[in-house]
Amino acid sequence: MAIKVIKEKCVGCGACVTVCPADAINMIDKKAVITDKCIACGACIDKCPVEAIYKESTKNGGVNIDDYRGVWVFAEQREGKTLNVVRELLGEGRKIADELETELSAVLLGHNMEEEADLLIKYGADKVIYVDDELLDVYTTDGYSKVIFDLIEERKPEILLIGATNIGRDLGPRLSAKVHTGLTADCTRLDVDKENRRLMMTRPAFGGNLMATILCPKHRPQMSTVRPGVMEKAKLHEDHEGVVEVVKPNLKAEDIKAKVVEVVKSDKPVVALEEAPIIVSGGRGLGNEEGFKLIEELAEKLGGVVGASRATVDTNWIDHSHQVGQTGKTVRPGLYVACGISGAIQHLAGMQDSKCIVAINKDANAPIFEVADYGIVGDLYEVIPELIQALDNVDD
Ligand code: FAD
Repeated sequence: MAIKVIKEKCVGCGACVTVCPADAINMIDKKAVITDKCIACGACIDKCPVEAIYKESTKNGGVNIDDYRGVWVFAEQREGKTLNVVRELLGEGRKIADELETELSAVLLGHNMEEEADLLIKYGADKVIYVDDELLDVYTTDGYSKVIFDLIEERKPEILLIGATNIGRDLGPRLSAKVHTGLTADCTRLDVDKENRRLMMTRPAFGGNLMATILCPKHRPQMSTVRPGVMEKAKLHEDHEGVVEVVKPNLKAEDIKAKVVEVVKSDKPVVALEEAPIIVSGGRGLGNEEGFKLIEELAEKLGGVVGASRATVDTNWIDHSHQVGQTGKTVRPGLYVACGISGAIQHLAGMQDSKCIVAINKDANAPIFEVADYGIVGDLYEVIPELIQALDNVDD
């Protein structure tokens, strides 16, 4: 626990209790006691009139990093199935763990998920810490952050990787504040400095104009949320061996403030851009919303899905779920066809790792051609119908 009370100094005034936003301080025998609901915000430290509360730290202002070992991956699940990003994190986690010569563990929270736990071993985990409880069936911030916080306190991993999904983006900051460590959000690359066991976490910064590599030298675990679709997925190895440890959490219904009454799925069609082997994307060069009909037609012909630049999303020609780029999705399909897209750095950030890029643009100097494997200089309203016709001829 990062926040501590000096019992001898505490006068039992209760000022800290009233100011705590997490309801994490109890008065027991007229002394303040910090519970594990603490989010380490420090509000109580500022409020205490007798300086009886402090943030725990070692001499170098951090923790004893040699106490921490092992790489953990949060195995996010929905309706009892782990997400694809978990396999991406396992692939990356395996490389990091091998380099650091340490163990790779997947942390799975849920209920009746034994089969999924076994599967995580086949995707490369040495160990699965499977926390099984009815209260963990559906994600809640309080429940999940408490359980993982308890595990971190007890087992001290040196690295924790979380998918930058909606849930991961909620869980990561809450956990890092509770544990009192740093979190690099939305990473697109991870490397290791083996000598001092530091994780080098890289992400776009300053509007995507440069890539920043961020370190967490004094605190552990080193935490990172990683964009789905960026890392290569771990492969399934039927013969890979590991251990599934089933853990019973110290969790009560009262620990969870928000109750999930019902899960209602969005009625918008799901655009599985990160999974698609072929993406045909449209940009402002389409001229109007109607232009996406042509993009859809080409995508359908190729057996792909429709992507979009932010310019078209901002003008409401298409839903944000189709957006590729820094503030959209990161994709690496086998084929990416960019139609009427200039190739701004923020768009490239989301698609430049595609295996084959085809660009159609009427401006021969458009930056998209710098990353394209095949470039077609021309009006998309002439080029795309010709492509569709050529594909029809192939079909015939
Ligand atoms: P434009 O830049 O206007 O390009 C249109 C292109 O179409 C031009 O190259 C033109 O030559 C061509 N064209 C025009 N007519 C035709 C025709 N008939 N046939 C063929 N070609 C034609 N953008 C994203 O895409 N994704 C993001 O996630 C994203 N995140 C951002 C985050 C931040 C913080 C910021 C500041 C910006 C972000 N952007 C993002 C916006 C980005 O900077 C660009 O503005 C955007 O990508 C431009 O979209 P576009 O290429 O469709 O439009």
